[in-house]
Amino acid sequence: MRGGKLCVSPRELRMAVATSSETLRTLHRIHRQLEDLRGRIAAGPRLVAASTKQLETAEAGRIGAQGQVKQAKLAADQKQLQLRSAEAKILDLKGKLNTCKTNREYQLLTDQIAADTMATNVLEDEILESLERVDSVQAALPIAEQAVVAAKKILDETKARVAAEAAGLEVEVARVQAELVSTEGELTGDARSLYDRSVKHKGADAMAPLEGESCGGCFQQITGKMASDLLLGHVVMCRSCGRLLYSPESRATG
Ligand SMILES: [Zn+2]
Repeated sequence: MRGGKLCVSPRELRMAVATSSETLRTLHRIHRQLEDLRGRIAAGPRLVAASTKQLETAEAGRIGAQGQVKQAKLAADQKQLQLRSAEAKILDLKGKLNTCKTNREYQLLTDQIAADTMATNVLEDEILESLERVDSVQAALPIAEQAVVAAKKILDETKARVAAEAAGLEVEVARVQAELVSTEGELTGDARSLYDRSVKHKGADAMAPLEGESCGGCFQQITGKMASDLLLGHVVMCRSCGRLLYSPESRATG
């Protein structure tokens, strides 16, 4: 050391670099871990929302099936009402046969009765069809009801699972948060304010390992000055993406 200001031994320098890089590497790992945990916590309500939507769809299906049964029964009832009124009319016409004064009048009435009887035959066929329709839509109802029960079961299970997982994840977040605070304490001065600013805007993307001579985040090559600053243990920011760089592996301190 010939009067220079650099009065640390190469070994001490390597340790300083290792410490600064080690801290940033650990912080990067912690931030990614927190991001992953928060992502898993956020996924819970989305799963519940998806199951809720499925239940709503199943309930709409059941209401639709119930509506079809109601409509089919109403249609069958109306046909039966029509038939009864047609039969009453025929009975009435038959009663009038005795009161006919002319053959022509009698013939007309007989024709009318024959036509009305044909119409009631058609109506009877239609009633059979409408009753078959009632049976068929009624058969679909239990399936729609089972779908609601199944969707409700899935929703309840999803809610329970998400709640149970959320509790564990929150505990994990608290643990990792504490680790974050304690590790952040290792950064001081300019390095700390640079880190704080960067993390505020970029979260886990605030840091990147150095890959060869390039930023591991954006793959832009760093300058010689940045490389030597990094070697001196300074916190170096990528000029292209703003990530704080750290050496990928801790160096042996010999
Ligand atoms: Zn970069």
